[in-house]
Amino acid sequence: MTDFAALADQQLAGGTLTAEQALAILRSGDEELLDLVAAGARLRRTHFGNRVKVNYLVNLKSGLCPEDCGYCSQRLGSEAPILKYSWLKPDEALSQASQGIQGGASRVCLVASGRGPSDRDVERVGDIVGKIKADHPDVEICACLGLLKDGQADALHEAGVDAYNHNINTSESRYADICSTHTYADRVGTIDAAKHSGMSACSGLIVGMGETDEELVEAIFALRDLDSDSIPVNFLMPFEGTPLGQDWNLTPQRALRILALARFACPDREVRMAGGREMHLRTLQPMALHLANSLFLGDYLTSQGQAAADDLAMIADGGWEIVGQVPQSPDEPALTHPVIRDRGAGTTASANA
Ligand code: SF4
Repeated sequence: MTDFAALADQQLAGGTLTAEQALAILRSGDEELLDLVAAGARLRRTHFGNRVKVNYLVNLKSGLCPEDCGYCSQRLGSEAPILKYSWLKPDEALSQASQGIQGGASRVCLVASGRGPSDRDVERVGDIVGKIKADHPDVEICACLGLLKDGQADALHEAGVDAYNHNINTSESRYADICSTHTYADRVGTIDAAKHSGMSACSGLIVGMGETDEELVEAIFALRDLDSDSIPVNFLMPFEGTPLGQDWNLTPQRALRILALARFACPDREVRMAGGREMHLRTLQPMALHLANSLFLGDYLTSQGQAAADDLAMIADGGWEIVGQVPQSPDEPALTHPVIRDRGAGTTASANA
């Protein structure tokens, strides 16, 4: 049995989680789960109090990707029945972003499928960012456009983009198993470029792709070393029509242990329970908020998430406060329940391309 309270003390004192300790978290027994969550919750509350950061995805461009990431419904040759379209008009992107902001999002994530943007695409995103910031000056914008070429990170930052998302997805040692059209090093290069431009780095994982415990620890320690400010943990949604369509490897308890590992390894980083939380954490989602301090509101890129109203109720019921939401009076709840537009039929394996 691991003394998770002592492990939390170690991390609160500025310690560095070892591989042995990380494996002990992943391999802890069900009878230890509450102790693990309680210890992780101390780290979460120390760094983030009772605040939950709400993010909202706007899918600017869907499907039609030439890359072959095995988990992704938008990949080359995917037979998943997703919506496919090329670049939302700026007013439509603004309209979608505004719905998420109305629902409590303090960060809007602008996502486009594909290997990476052209310079024209970067300009297009800059125009959209300008429109959103004109109406919502306090909102943070994160762009997720794929691999960046020279100068594009600087251009995005100058256009007002605050953060850049590019997930490492899995460990370096098994990256080639999930994608053959680009490398782990390509992904790290883009994260580094984003950081050097002055944008905040957002990089995370898709878990449940058949990785071993050791590979999962390798990936989370890589995110720690990359100094990613926010770490989205996606849980594989194994949809038919993708190579990983039969990979059901997670239980709610396992998903919780993975979030605990992310929290213990990176105590002061934004840990997000991201795509697939509904189908894998299931009724343990409220417990996961004691480890994660961030989530996506409503739908994912090409799939439906939990109804936004249910997300907001879960946050309120747990006594959490949404970052950026100030109640008008103590008797008046800060949360609104917007109608988030259905993105239609379709599936995706990741909240982040
Ligand atoms: S994850 Fe991104 S790059 Fe990979 S197939 Fe999906 S859309 Fe393309």
